[in-house]
Amino acid sequence: MKILFSAPESDWADYRDLLPSALARAGISAEVVREAAPETVDYIVYAPNDDLRDFTPFTRTRAVLSLWAGVERIVGNATLTQPLTRMVDAGLERGMVEYVTGHVLRHHLGMDAHVVNPERDWTPVPPPLAADRPVTVLGLGALGRACATTLAGLGFPVTGWSRTPKRIEGLRCLSGEDGLTAALTGAEIIVALLPLTPETEGLLDAARLALPAQGAALINPGRGALIDDAALLEALDAGRIGHATLDVFRTEPLPREHPYWAHPRVTVTPHVASATRPATAARVIAENIRRAEAGEPLLFEVDRVRGY
Ligand code: NAP
Repeated sequence: MKILFSAPESDWADYRDLLPSALARAGISAEVVREAAPETVDYIVYAPNDDLRDFTPFTRTRAVLSLWAGVERIVGNATLTQPLTRMVDAGLERGMVEYVTGHVLRHHLGMDAHVVNPERDWTPVPPPLAADRPVTVLGLGALGRACATTLAGLGFPVTGWSRTPKRIEGLRCLSGEDGLTAALTGAEIIVALLPLTPETEGLLDAARLALPAQGAALINPGRGALIDDAALLEALDAGRIGHATLDVFRTEPLPREHPYWAHPRVTVTPHVASATRPATAARVIAENIRRAEAGEPLLFEVDRVRGY
């Protein structure tokens, strides 16, 4: 069996040993290669920032396995007719939980006032308890759900919002358009962990950014285009949104002249919220190839119509 590793060189350094050993442990005998005649390739392990765009010549390829959780760059590729899976990885999930929890606590505790305090201001105002700080998590998938339940475990009243209705212990779960309005209304911290699809693009527009509590914090480790940037800048200037912590942007790297860099109410992080962790991800890829070979359903297959 031949597996084409179609991802940048830096990824290859991480996976060149891990992937063959994970495959061997899953009982798969395969050659993992950087180059191959397309008609000889059985599976493609793929990073959406790779150059490969035309899948037409891969006539015997049985599945394309993405190393990334977000697949918006590839999901609409008409030449990709094989099943496509996205990455759900325990390491990626833990990293996202840590990023989101850290940034939620920063805003909840008002840490900035004490970290940088050139005026030596002594105004002892204790923050409220988590129980008095409503948090909303948009997206209750692999990442959103893990973040929401962790925050609920810390005592925050957490509302989660998803496309389909859910019941998750410890969370108030909402869905649909009315659910979104209710989820945003009065929220003091909002975390966006939605995939980018035609339905979610520009979701956080002026009308929706007016719903949270005055001065609410917005944390976006989902995708940049979930937000209408002009509307967010206006809401930040007016103080309706008190702070935005943004990890993802419509253009990455964020252009040096972009107003987010200089805005006093914006924290830019350079798409570091979480990364696929090769050790755990290699096991996920190997398990999916084992499943495909055994005729079992693939894990985390992307619904090409839904877009995620
Ligand atoms: P996922 O498991 O596919 O979950 C997506 C969630 O969004 C689901 O709960 C889904 O609802 C909901 N959703 C999708 N479309 C919706 C809509 N139109 N209305 C309401 N809810 C909608 O994805 P994931 O693994 O949690 O990852 C989420 C995103 O995080 C990725 O797509 C990627 O963009 C981003 N990400 C960022 C980083 C980073 O470092 N910044 C790292 C990894 C991932 P249902 O449950 O009803 O289907």
